[in-house]
Amino acid sequence: MTSNAPDSVERADVVIVGSRCAGTAAAVPLVRAGHKVVVLDKARFPADTLSTHVLVPNGVSELKKMGALDRILALNPARSTHLRITDGDMVVCERYKPFDGIDYGICVPRNLQDECLVETAREAGADIREKCSVESVVWRGGRAVGVVYRDPDGEEREIHAKLVIGADGRRSRVAAEVDSWTPYRGSKNGRGFAFRYMDDPKAGTSQHEEMGVYRAERTVGLTLPSTPEGRVLAVWMCPAEDVSGFRMDPEAAWQQKLDGDPVMADRLAGAQNMGKVRSTADLSSYYRRSSGPGWALAGDAGHFKDPVTGNGMRDALKHGRLLGEAAAPRLHDPERLDAALAVWERGRDLDTLSTYHWGNRESRPDPVSDLVREVLRTFAGQEGPDLSDTFNRARPIEAIVSPTHLVKGLVAALRRPGADRKAIVKQALGELPLEWHGRRNRLLDGFRSTRPTKTERPDWTVGNAPGPPSYRPAADPAPVGADVPAVAA
Ligand SMILES: Cc1cc2nc3c(=O)[nH]c(=O)nc-3n(C[C@H](O)[C@H](O)[C@H](O)COP(=O)(O)OP(=O)(O)OC[C@H]3O[C@@H](n4cnc5c(N)ncnc54)[C@H](O)[C@@H]3O)c2cc1C
Repeated sequence: MTSNAPDSVERADVVIVGSRCAGTAAAVPLVRAGHKVVVLDKARFPADTLSTHVLVPNGVSELKKMGALDRILALNPARSTHLRITDGDMVVCERYKPFDGIDYGICVPRNLQDECLVETAREAGADIREKCSVESVVWRGGRAVGVVYRDPDGEEREIHAKLVIGADGRRSRVAAEVDSWTPYRGSKNGRGFAFRYMDDPKAGTSQHEEMGVYRAERTVGLTLPSTPEGRVLAVWMCPAEDVSGFRMDPEAAWQQKLDGDPVMADRLAGAQNMGKVRSTADLSSYYRRSSGPGWALAGDAGHFKDPVTGNGMRDALKHGRLLGEAAAPRLHDPERLDAALAVWERGRDLDTLSTYHWGNRESRPDPVSDLVREVLRTFAGQEGPDLSDTFNRARPIEAIVSPTHLVKGLVAALRRPGADRKAIVKQALGELPLEWHGRRNRLLDGFRSTRPTKTERPDWTVGNAPGPPSYRPAADPAPVGADVPAVAA
C-alpha cells in the first residue's frame, strides 16, 4: 500500500507488530532510548498461544535484561535447575551453567508469561495496543514507513514510523507485506508435537526440578515442572504422522506413547488432573530474509526452528532486544539504520544457525541410533554443565559435541558386546555429512546463503508457502549471498 500521509495519520518513531517475546524485547531498549514506540497486537492479554515454555538460564537472563524477571518471579514460577537425558541405560544429569548470576530455568505457561512481558514493556513506556490487527505495510519510495491496522472497534487506522518491526510470529503478515513470506532456507520437520499439563506425582522431590528428556525408539519425550506450583508439562515429539492419532483419540494416543516409553511412563505414573492434549505437525524450520529498507522481522517472523531445542523464546527475546538496541541510535538516519538492520540479521543468523541445524537433526523421525546413544554417554557421570550447554546456549553445538566426543562415541559403540558394527559404521557415515554441512553453513557459506545443507529435508512448508525459495529481493541493500555492509559508527 502507498500513502500520501494525510495529517490525520498518527506518527511514532517505531511501530512493532506483535507483543510477545520478540515484540516486547525490541520495544524496551527503544523506549529506554527515548523513542515513541507503538506496539500493535491482535490478541487481548492474557492470551495463550500454541507453545510450551522451556526457558533455560540463558533465556531467563534475557527476562532480567528486559526488566520482566521480578514480575515473573512474583508468580512463584516453577524452576528447573537440572537437565536429565535418558536413552535406554544411558543417563546424563547436569546442573545448568549460570548466566548473569541465574542458575535456573523457569517454566511459566505462555498466557501468564506473555502478560508479564506486555506489562513490563508498557511500564517502560511502550504504547501497547491490544485487539489491533495489522493489515498492511505502508510504503514510500521503496521504504516501509508505517502500517494500516484495524482498531478494537473495527475502524481502519494508519500509523507512520521510521521503522516497522514484524514480531508477529510464524504466519507473519509483515513478512508477507515486505515480500519476504517465502523463506530462503528451510527444512521439513519429521516430528510432530503433542503436550498436556497435569499434577506432578514427583512434586516436592528433586525430580520435579529437572527438565527430563526421554529418547526411545522414534519418539522423544519431555517433562518440565510448570506453574502454578506442583504441575508438570509432558510432551511427546513423535513422528509427524502420529499427530493424526492425537487428534482422533488423544487419550488412546497418549497411552500408546506411555506404553512405548517405560522411563517416561514411570516418571508420570500416578499423575492426576490431566489437562487437554494439544498437538501440531506444522513445525517446519526456516530463515526468512529479515531486514530491508525501514523494516525488520524479529522472533518467529524471521526464523523458526524445531521446539526440541527449547530455544525459540530465548532467541526471540535476545534478538528482539539486540534489534531494538541496534536501531535505537540510528532511527534518524535511514541509510545507517538499514545497514544496522542487516548487521543485526547477520548476527542473529550466526548465533542461531548451529541450533537450527541441531534442531533439524533432532527432528528426524528415525529410531534413536546406537552411535548417537554412545556419543551422549561420553557426557555421563558428571554433574557440572557440559551437554546441557546445548539447550542453555553457552557454546555452539559443534563446540560441545566435539570431534573428540564423536570419535570416543564411535569407538565405544563399535566395542560394545554384540554391537552390529556394520550398522554403526553406516550410521557414522550418515552423520558425517550432517556434521560437516552444519559447520560449513555457519562458518563459510556467508550471509543469507541458499546453498542447501544435508541437515535440511525438502518439501517444507510454512502455512501455504512451499519451499524451495522463490523470492529474490529487487532492491535490497544486502542481497542474497552478499556480505553485510559495514555500519558507520
Ligand atoms: C508447539 C510449540 C512448542 C514450543 N515450545 C517452546 C519451548 O518450550 N520453549 C521455547 O523457547 N520456545 C518454544 N516454542 C517456540 C516459541 O513459541 C516461539 O519461538 C516464540 O513464541 C516466538 O515469539 P514471537 O514473539 O516471535 O512470536 P509469537 O509468540 O508467535 O507472537 C506473535 C504475536 O503477534 C501477534 N500477531 C500476529 N499477527 C498479527 C497481526 N496481523 N496484527 C497484530 N498482531 C499480530 C499475535 O497475536 C502474537 O501475540 C514452541 C513453538 C511451538 C509451535
